[in-house]
Amino acid sequence: MPERPANAEPVSVDRVSVLLPLPLAGAYDYRVTNGMRVTAGDFVRVPLGRRRLVGVVWGPDRASIADAKLKPIIETLPVPPLHDELRRFIEWVAGYTMTVPGAVLRMTMSVPDALEPPRAITGYIITDAGRAAPNSTDSHLTPQRRRVLAVAAEGGAASAGVLAHRAACGSGVIKAMVAAGLLQSVELPAALPPPPPDWHAAGPPLSSAQDVAATDLATKVRCGGFSVTLLDGVTGSGKTEVYFAAIAAALERGRQALVLLPEIALSTQLLKRFSDRFGAPPALWHSDLGHAQRRATWRHVAEGQARVVVGARSALFLPFSDLGLIVVDEEHDASFKQEEGVIYHARDMAVVRASLAHVPIVLVSATPSLESAVNAQSGRYNRLHLPVRHGTARLPEIRVVDMRKQRPERQRFLSPPLVQALGETLAGGEQAMLFLNRRGYAPLTLCRECGHRMQCPNCTAWLVEHRRAGGLQCHHCGCAMPMPAACPNCGAVGSFAACGPGVERLAEETAQRFPEARIALMASDTLTGPRAMAELLERVERHEVDVLIGTQVMAKGHHFPMLTLVGVVDADLGLSGGDLRAAERTFQLLHQVAGRAGRAARPGLVLLQTYMPEHPVMRALASDDRDGFLAAEAQSRREGNWPPFGRLAAVIVSASDADAADRVARTFARHAPRADGIEILGPAPAPLAMLRGRHRRRFLVKARRDAPLQTVLRTWLDVVKLPSGVRVQVDIDPYSFI
Ligand code: ADP
Ligand code: ZN
Repeated sequence: MPERPANAEPVSVDRVSVLLPLPLAGAYDYRVTNGMRVTAGDFVRVPLGRRRLVGVVWGPDRASIADAKLKPIIETLPVPPLHDELRRFIEWVAGYTMTVPGAVLRMTMSVPDALEPPRAITGYIITDAGRAAPNSTDSHLTPQRRRVLAVAAEGGAASAGVLAHRAACGSGVIKAMVAAGLLQSVELPAALPPPPPDWHAAGPPLSSAQDVAATDLATKVRCGGFSVTLLDGVTGSGKTEVYFAAIAAALERGRQALVLLPEIALSTQLLKRFSDRFGAPPALWHSDLGHAQRRATWRHVAEGQARVVVGARSALFLPFSDLGLIVVDEEHDASFKQEEGVIYHARDMAVVRASLAHVPIVLVSATPSLESAVNAQSGRYNRLHLPVRHGTARLPEIRVVDMRKQRPERQRFLSPPLVQALGETLAGGEQAMLFLNRRGYAPLTLCRECGHRMQCPNCTAWLVEHRRAGGLQCHHCGCAMPMPAACPNCGAVGSFAACGPGVERLAEETAQRFPEARIALMASDTLTGPRAMAELLERVERHEVDVLIGTQVMAKGHHFPMLTLVGVVDADLGLSGGDLRAAERTFQLLHQVAGRAGRAARPGLVLLQTYMPEHPVMRALASDDRDGFLAAEAQSRREGNWPPFGRLAAVIVSASDADAADRVARTFARHAPRADGIEILGPAPAPLAMLRGRHRRRFLVKARRDAPLQTVLRTWLDVVKLPSGVRVQVDIDPYSFI
């Protein structure tokens, strides 16, 4: 194995620069006091104005300030230093996304108190008096205290928060019970490191194609060094099994592995498989975790005790002590793109991190992004292929239903062939899934009297009716309101008509047609969290659900052996709008949804309801010609010099005042740079001309691959002084075109 770069040479000067996790222009200089030893990467506490903040020693000082004015570092914190690899990554991401390094560092330092020395936690245990109290006649216990005692009597020490939560009371009750001598406090040790996954246990015997792929990846992991591999295999072909082998190889080498997933809440089955295989769960990283868990995990990752991290895109910025492998599962998924704060694409940045860390990365998908497919074809990425489903499972048959000929009844959305197939599936004791990528009951509410449409006050968007939650909602800004009693335009009462279907409306239609069927809804707003999701998935697995109706949360890698029919209610939904990747994404999404059918012994059938049966996406799906579709898509992008052949950036000017937005956009247009290989389109109102109350004007910047896009943009943006209240957002490689 090549020597890994030693972590940072000591900075021997008595001045260093320190990067703070703040949106400042760069690192600040500080003095190192006598006797203090700091090296680049150390976490240090420094004064900034009247505050004391923690930052990272970034390197030699910038000689920006006279010695006399230089403030001293207060202390170094007992945390392993940030590796050179991660510091370079932070700078790289900042340069690429055109943000400041401090804003990227903040993503690494997302749990500030993980940097402080581990504190002992105070726990509480029941006292003898507490044990006796429930049975004693002279104690007057409130029901809350009784519950706390019952909980405390069951187990060992627990924190006040945990006890209060289990007993469903406030933590004040716990404190009062300590005072009353019913509970007593004890010191708990800081969070224990997670048990290490065991790589010795062999996985299942692999098919020969799986074995070739697994051996290839394991070899890359053992040899170390940077490589990118596209693991391309049909749904159910065992891609997960194969990358588990790569993880085992990393563990065997004593190194850490990072698995990025688009949506952790949807990954309970994967987590279970991981635990079954490795005898211990991976460390998790996503935004729904509690603070204590994030704190513990951050530290375990930094100290090398967390061996495998399964996380959402933000896990990419964790301070691994010895990263040996990165896996990006469902690499084509658009949710890897972060659209707020630092705008970055986690898959692309993961490739950068792997390269800076000199480790292999595996991009996994059944429907690779055009970017990855083109890179694999040009030989820049390796490609491993799993062409068939594991075992006896076959890919489902996909049929297109021409909705121009097979019209549903009025105010209904299921065509006769889909209704018939549903009936047969249910009669056969099998399960069906209806897919519609739209939450709520109806996407548009209009007044039958005057034609008024209910629109969001903050966005250029219709309000979506939600019957379960009640009322109207904007899916862009979250604004919600009750359904008005009368039309706000003409005052007519009872004149509202729901137009078009959402999943709630489909559930209603299905229940009317099949009253016996057990129906479940699966959409992000009908499931309250990971637990609700896991419970629903288990109910489906136990076959307590006959028809599962849902949005794209349902499309992801679930495996239901009894599911044999998938009905795509509106296959055309994603094709409208000005999204560069509309066709590609629709293909990926529908292919993935289709892949839910017939995953076990029973053959699957997929019906695509479309008004455009001749569309290349529908044809490719029906004839199972993914590569033909990708080739045609690549050809048209190449001709237009669109990504991945050319590069793109969006510059969005926004203001709460429409005139201000227009004025600034015009100023930008006047100063538009003329550079070879760079073309500036716009300004134009963004498709969502108003979003969250801000008026938006958009430029699209198209660049040849070899043109210095960021440099040109930087110069351009620096020229225009922004009036207060006007914001400019730069999105390199935009995925969202709203
Ligand atoms: P993918 O990730 O390509 O969709 P999975 O790895 O989820 O495929 O595999 C699909 C199903 O087949 C899973 O239930 C998995 O456990 C099973 N499977 C795949 N390969 C094997 C194998 N070699 N032996 C036993 N079961 C396998
Ligand atoms: Zn809105």
